Amino acid sequence: MKIGIPKEIKNNENRVGMTPAGVFELVKNKHTVYVQSTAGDGSGFFDDDYLNVGAILVDTIEEVYAQSDMIVKVKEPIAPEYNLIKENQLVFTYFHFASSEALTKAMIKSKAVCIAYETVEDVDGTLPLLTPMSEVAGRMAIQQGAKYLEKPIKGRGVLLGGVPGVPPGKVLILGAGTVGIQAAKMAAGLGAHVTILDINMKRLRHVNDIMPSHVVTEFSNEYNIRKHIKTHDLIIGGVLIPGAKAPSLITRDMLKEMHPGTVIVDVAVDQGGCIETTKATTHEDPTYIIDDVVHYCVANMPGAVPYTSTVALTNVTLPFVLKLANLGWEKACNADKSLQKGLNIVKGTIVYEGIAEAFGWEV
Ligand code: NAD
Repeated sequence: MKIGIPKEIKNNENRVGMTPAGVFELVKNKHTVYVQSTAGDGSGFFDDDYLNVGAILVDTIEEVYAQSDMIVKVKEPIAPEYNLIKENQLVFTYFHFASSEALTKAMIKSKAVCIAYETVEDVDGTLPLLTPMSEVAGRMAIQQGAKYLEKPIKGRGVLLGGVPGVPPGKVLILGAGTVGIQAAKMAAGLGAHVTILDINMKRLRHVNDIMPSHVVTEFSNEYNIRKHIKTHDLIIGGVLIPGAKAPSLITRDMLKEMHPGTVIVDVAVDQGGCIETTKATTHEDPTYIIDDVVHYCVANMPGAVPYTSTVALTNVTLPFVLKLANLGWEKACNADKSLQKGLNIVKGTIVYEGIAEAFGWEV
């Protein structure tokens, strides 16, 4: 199959759809891979790295789309890309259709086959192509939180690990899912005292089993949250209710209970956030302050570490890309029920429940 890796054109997107290691595997399987020149630069993979594993470099995005049976990328296509997508072309990427009517209409019109990373689903209900980005964001949340706790950037002036003779900082984590556990691991590694809350006892048992004793689990309820926000220096929001807006577990009035300079990193911002005062920010201007509490609410945290994020993403997408390339999309989706769940729009027809409802369209 002919596979195309275009350069991402969405603002500030530095990831790329395939690493040289992935191209190597595809070429080994007798596929032809077109990579747009400089597509990997932002992630630290250069044209020569792709040439050395057998990719064909092309100069323009138009050429990549025109030559390829399958496009593998990262972000959803944006307006300038809509008309490049051809009938019957397979497009494998994050789409998030329910959040863009324009994109949905454009992909219906294109008559392409759209397989969305975010809806590929394992038998246990987990989303294998979203997990690595939560892992990145969870780990990064502590790195960012530690930085914003510094006084010159309006934090409390607390070093998370403490020093001999001074107790460590305290980190409160809301949600013991992928983000929460990765954040707990990083905070614990720095020597911070960690409290992690969830409503799912299985998750809390798991955390209790695998974490050191300075990571303490507690059930998530308003009483416990009100108690802990008074004493913790850094608060991480990692709550998710699938398909719904995140609940506001910390309300505006509760900010006054916190020490001035407390830092909130609300990773759940992409689902509306689990802090009432959360509003999405960008890497250019990541924080704002309300009632002396520093809020960090960047909606695409993994974008700041494109090398790690690209490698983490292609580690999990490559087996599906290989299957699609080796078998063609119909056979691949019949053979792999996880991949089948990724089918969103097929040749002009919406096949994923929830997209049409999101826009109030008749199904
Ligand atoms: P997950 O499903 O693995 O974990 C969510 C956890 O929240 C679950 O354990 C669930 O039981 C718990 N929860 C639900 N209600 C709760 C409550 N009232 N109190 C405490 N816990 C509660 O999800 P995840 O992969 O960890 O993702 C968390 C959020 O982070 C999602 O909204 C995801 O989209 C977002 N995310 C954001 C970025 C970013 O760049 N900002 C990157 C990746 C993921």
